[in-house]
Parts: sequence; C-alpha cells; structure tokens
Amino acid sequence: MNDEAREKFRAKYRAGVSPNYSGLLHLSVVVLGAGSLICWGTTKLVDFKLYQLWFVVMTYIAYNLGEWASHNYWGHHKTKLFKLFYQRHTGDHHTFFVDTDMEYQMVLDWRVVIFPIYLLVLTTVAISIPGGLVSYFIFGGNYGYLFFITMTSCYLLYEVLHFSYHLQRGSVTERIFRLIPGWTYLRLFHTVHHNRDLMVEGNFNITLPLFDWIFGTLYFDANDEQKPSKGDTKPQPQ
Ligand SMILES: [Zn+2]
Ligand SMILES: [Zn+2]
Repeated sequence: MNDEAREKFRAKYRAGVSPNYSGLLHLSVVVLGAGSLICWGTTKLVDFKLYQLWFVVMTYIAYNLGEWASHNYWGHHKTKLFKLFYQRHTGDHHTFFVDTDMEYQMVLDWRVVIFPIYLLVLTTVAISIPGGLVSYFIFGGNYGYLFFITMTSCYLLYEVLHFSYHLQRGSVTERIFRLIPGWTYLRLFHTVHHNRDLMVEGNFNITLPLFDWIFGTLYFDANDEQKPSKGDTKPQPQ
C-alpha cells in the first residue's frame, strides 16, 4: 500500500469514528482504570516480604509468553474466536501505521492505537481475577494479589509503551519517553514489526522481547536507531 492509499484508508477510518469519541477520555479511562485496580491490589497485601517478588517475576514471564502468543496467533492469524481482534490489529492498526510512517497525526488516531476499554474489563475478569484466585488458594493471600497486580500492571505497561511507540517524534511526551533507558530500542523493535513483510514473522513482544528471543522471532537492527529520520529501518533477521 502506497502513501496515498494509506491516507485514504486513514480518512475512511476517521470518518467511521463516532463524533463522541475522545482520545483523552479513552487513554484516561485505561490508565486510571488499570491504575485503580493496581492500587486496590496493593492495599490488600499483608506483611509483604521482598522474597515474594519471585512470584512477580514468574507471573511476568507467563504474561510475556501470552503477549507473544496472542499477538502472533490471534493478532496476525485469522481465527473464528478472535476475528475482531485480527480485524482491528492486522486490518486496521497495521494498515494505519507502517514502519515508514509510525506516528499518529491527531488525537482521533488514538482509537486505532489503544485497545478498546472493554478489553481491560475482559482480561481482568477472564485472567487477572481467576489467576489471582488460583494463586491465592495454592500459595496464599499475597500471591493471589501479586498475580492480580502484576497482570494488571503488564496490561497497563503494554498500553502505555505501545502508545509511546506511535508518538509524534520531537513532541514533549516523546522526548520524556526517550529518557527511559532502552526505550528507543523497544520502539525500533516495534517499528520493525510494522514492516508489512515482517509483521507475521516476528517482534510480537511489546514490553520486552523475551519470547521473541527465545523463539527466534527477534528482528532487530540497533544501527538503524542512529538514523535521524523516521522510516529508515531496514530490518535484518538475527
Ligand atoms: Zn503498533
Ligand atoms: Zn502486530
């Protein structure tokens, strides 16, 4: 798809967005909603000990596998059950943004970057709560809440980081994210994923390319980060 066709797609997509849509409200609900759940979980911890963080690490590793698998198998392969996710991801998100054109142009475009709000509710009900209950009954109180807190934090981290990869270069927010060590590499990593030829091949992780590395689906050329302008990425399989 050339630039002109992409702009046409964008115009059509924007025309289909409800006039009541507010990107700021969308982002705020996700951040405040997930943030409140995390705070609630934290208040439930009793006599927390540092060694209990092993469970946070294990939960994150499990999450990272889920991030890799769901993005790969449901985001980039059409399945009956997750048809809508495939449509929103491969159909909309990957058509709207390609590796040579990654930045949102207006707040309305946030709709195609941030997950719909109901997904936070769905993952909380389907994963964080039942997983927390299982952990609670097997390992004890704190571990149940640690599972809940970690999963919700991962969801929020995914949303915030993915959003940050599509920020306008040179904006104040983008420059703040640049201060985070390793962030520019994570963004490059996701930019490479937006290459239409590579999107089904790899770079499925968003928060940390752990399972991309383990499964050999990591495409990463650090030298590209030296290039000053957007769209200069030339992914090289490792
Ligand atoms: Zn993206
Ligand atoms: Zn993708």
